[in-house]
Amino acid sequence: MTVDVPIPESYLVPFEPGSVWLAGAGPGDPGLLTLLALHGLRQADVIVHDALVDERILGLAQAKAALVHAGKRGGRPSAAQEDISRRLVELARQGLRVLRLKGGDPCVFGRGGEEAEALAAAGIPFRIVPGITAGIGGLAYAGIPATHRSANQAVVLATGYSRDNATDWRAMAATNAPLVLYMAWRTLPDIAAALIEGGRPPDTPVAIVADATTPHQRVLETTLAAAAADLAASGMEPPTIVVVGDVVRLRGPLAWFAPPEAGSGG
Ligand code: SAH
Repeated sequence: MTVDVPIPESYLVPFEPGSVWLAGAGPGDPGLLTLLALHGLRQADVIVHDALVDERILGLAQAKAALVHAGKRGGRPSAAQEDISRRLVELARQGLRVLRLKGGDPCVFGRGGEEAEALAAAGIPFRIVPGITAGIGGLAYAGIPATHRSANQAVVLATGYSRDNATDWRAMAATNAPLVLYMAWRTLPDIAAALIEGGRPPDTPVAIVADATTPHQRVLETTLAAAAADLAASGMEPPTIVVVGDVVRLRGPLAWFAPPEAGSGG
């Protein structure tokens, strides 16, 4: 790529040794990285990343950077969260530039807040670099606008996997706003039933987007009533984003992304 206008230095803050950047890598497509996340990848001495961070993105790190896999897969609780926070503190105390890289946005169901609390408590300087969250970027790549004046005035981002099942799905049903569900692959049958019970029409459109923004992206369109059976029959695997609501109906002419490796239902 030829570049005749360099990126101004002032856009790219220095990555101080002994500090941690809690950064989002976006949902998959490396093109969805922010300039700051790329800058962090280019300078970090050590990168502590989640399973959801795309290999192609890790490939942008400087060759001498150490890569630490912090485990954890969406939809599962982690016993190791305290260990990860402790590790970040230790690495920073060694004077390293520590990039904590997470899928999507670090603070949207990414425990970025918890890690930032641990860093603050330990007196480690840190910066939060937001990323494009799967529930927004994944919708865009599926051709589903998160809001549209003809359809909705609000949108709800929710987790399908909440501690102690704390989510009030009846209240969620009552909002009528589209629901964008993370980590709902396993719980979708229960959630769909609860939403119908809460008053959402059984024919409410639902889209399930797997591996959003990657060459493997697949999109399944269904309804609340049929979602559980259709998902099971599709053979789709996590990570998936589920969208419940009328915005899904707008998809037809807007499904612009045709990933080369997708199977049926692309
Ligand atoms: N911090 C992340 C979310 C982490 S929770 C973000 O902001 O996107 C993990 C969940 O995110 C997965 O279970 C799935 O619901 C969703 N997710 C992340 N990447 C995804 C992708 N490429 N395609 C579909 N869903 C994705």
